[in-house]
Amino acid sequence: MIYKTFGQTGKQVSAVGFGGMRFDMSQPPKKNAELLLYAREKGINYFDTAPKYCNDKSEDIFGIALKQMKSVRDEIYVSTKGSPSDMPTADKARKAVEKSLKRMKVDKLDFYFVWCIRKLEHFELAIRKGGQYEGLLKCKEEGLIDHIVVSTHLRGSEIVQMLDKNYFEGVLMGVNILNFPYRWDGVQKAHESGLGVLAMNPLAGGVIPQHEDKLGFLAGEHETPTEAALRFCIGCPEITVTLVGFSRREHIDTACRIADNCRPLDAADIHRIREHVAENMDSLCTGCGYCLASCAQNIPVASYMQFYNEKLLTDKSEAQTIESLKIHLDWGVLVDRAAESADCIECGQCEEACTQHLNIMERLRELAGWEKHVKEQKSKK
Ligand code: SF4
Ligand code: SF4
Repeated sequence: MIYKTFGQTGKQVSAVGFGGMRFDMSQPPKKNAELLLYAREKGINYFDTAPKYCNDKSEDIFGIALKQMKSVRDEIYVSTKGSPSDMPTADKARKAVEKSLKRMKVDKLDFYFVWCIRKLEHFELAIRKGGQYEGLLKCKEEGLIDHIVVSTHLRGSEIVQMLDKNYFEGVLMGVNILNFPYRWDGVQKAHESGLGVLAMNPLAGGVIPQHEDKLGFLAGEHETPTEAALRFCIGCPEITVTLVGFSRREHIDTACRIADNCRPLDAADIHRIREHVAENMDSLCTGCGYCLASCAQNIPVASYMQFYNEKLLTDKSEAQTIESLKIHLDWGVLVDRAAESADCIECGQCEEACTQHLNIMERLRELAGWEKHVKEQKSKK
């Protein structure tokens, strides 16, 4: 494992961080908690979670593991999060921190994220007088939190605007080997400002392992596109911690092996990737699920957008896309849909929630056209 200094905090954190958002929920909590202990044995010392992750069970799973790691508590770093819209007052922010401490069975959080800043208004809400940030500062004074950091899905130029105000000691961003040309200004600004920089979604929410056959250009010699994507973030001098969501020991082994032999991508690698990365690769659905609760029509927006990823990653003709959609409607990600793309009433709620700022309504219109073709083909048979 390699260790890096987290901004100006002086903390030496592992380049790979344990992301608590992808536990296998078919497993009992104790089994999932064992993954944290295993990660610690492998040299990982940064552990990140949030309320709501994994059906709101992730912080409890952390609690089981952290109780067993009490003797090494001062050798590990723990973070969780709270969104300004869920806790718009200082009082609510404090209560949320207390609740997380209790669930995670620790006396202090090393890092606490002002969570999920998708628009600058969310940031304004957090820092307003009597708001979340004020509550967190109080928690910091009382020793419940060591460092206040921020997690954001803003575009690079907006990240620059937010960081210019100088509220945070670190920033978590969705940056990876596919979208970095479009997000790099935010990473550079954070790094140059002396902040700890965390990357989430290093595998683009599973898009890279699922489409390795189409993403061969990412890989150098003797590595897979998935390994190259991990190496990109873990080896990047501007990125302090790469949060990887683990559900199995083998995932931890792979990330740690890459960190053990870490060689940053060189200029030739970066040039090769930049040549191939199309602008639409910043428009991939990461499967984060933030849109799931937003659709009153019960359209499985994330599943439709996951299908749409295929269109962005391949150069299929319209006929081939329709054929592929037919398979997904009958057997694939869309088989259990409660409503169809054509049921969209364009209320915009899903776009409001989308961490990737996707033009979901436009995509659903396109999908509805293809879905209509599929139905017509079926009715002719
Ligand atoms: S815009 Fe369409 S898909 Fe999105 S929430 Fe509204 S009805 Fe659902
Ligand atoms: S559509 Fe947006 S919010 Fe929904 S899963 Fe995809 S990236 Fe996440």
